[in-house]
Amino acid sequence: MKIKILGSGGGEGYPALFCSCEHCKAARKAKGKSLRSLSQTLIDDKLLIDLPPDTHMHFMQNGINFGEIENVLITHVHDDHYCPNLFSIRGTDFAPVLECEKLHVYGNADAERLFDGYYKLFPIRNEIRKSIVFHTLKPFESVNIGGYKVTALKANHAPEQIALNYIIDDGKSALLYLLDSGYPTAETLGYIGGYGVFSCVIMDGTMGLNYYVHHMNFEQDKRLKEELLKLGAANEKTKFIVNHITHNHAGLHEDIEEYFRASGITVSYDGMVTENE
Ligand SMILES: [Zn+2]
Ligand SMILES: [Zn+2]
Ligand SMILES: [Zn+2]
Repeated sequence: MKIKILGSGGGEGYPALFCSCEHCKAARKAKGKSLRSLSQTLIDDKLLIDLPPDTHMHFMQNGINFGEIENVLITHVHDDHYCPNLFSIRGTDFAPVLECEKLHVYGNADAERLFDGYYKLFPIRNEIRKSIVFHTLKPFESVNIGGYKVTALKANHAPEQIALNYIIDDGKSALLYLLDSGYPTAETLGYIGGYGVFSCVIMDGTMGLNYYVHHMNFEQDKRLKEELLKLGAANEKTKFIVNHITHNHAGLHEDIEEYFRASGITVSYDGMVTENE
């Protein structure tokens, strides 16, 4: 399984669009891995996770054609993960040559509700609307999506909606995708512990050195790694990666790498690719 991190930043990006804090000023100067666009991940060049406003830039930078992608998983409908107005250009003269007839969007019920609410205000062409098919997923249910066994998990995040995390399993390796989420609840950990060994775990690192119940911090990332090893959900080959990093709670990429030195946890950055067996 090839995993490409298209964006590694938290909700407002890093540097944040409107912010002049010391971290944002330093990131604008340092550039490189310290510039973090909004979180989005692509599996094997074909299964997309989330749809942030940065999608167009991510696809241009990485030479990807969204028209060739058939399936998108949405974790939850916060703005940095789901921007459904991007769909309005999927077809007709905006995209006359479209590889995949349909685009299947999987997520909670709010993904379709938000899409329809937006287009009630700003009508979309009927042909485009019909080409987008929504599927509502429920926590702890597995479905086959494009040859992957995908299991939605209950995220410890966004109590106003049913936020989802995912297990993506190609039969040879399994990815545990924990964005966005606070430290997983006992119920979710119980499910993860009974699933098998994961080859890769992508974790929420939003809170850095601070704390908030519905996102994880760096200390919790380390703790979760140990807990997954203890549960038998990970072994010495499992890759642990932190993602969704914000300017309010962490410094430049090198500073975060320094924090995680010798922990066996990798700090992601935009464009990072990892191959997993
Ligand atoms: Zn987020
Ligand atoms: Zn800032
Ligand atoms: Zn969120």
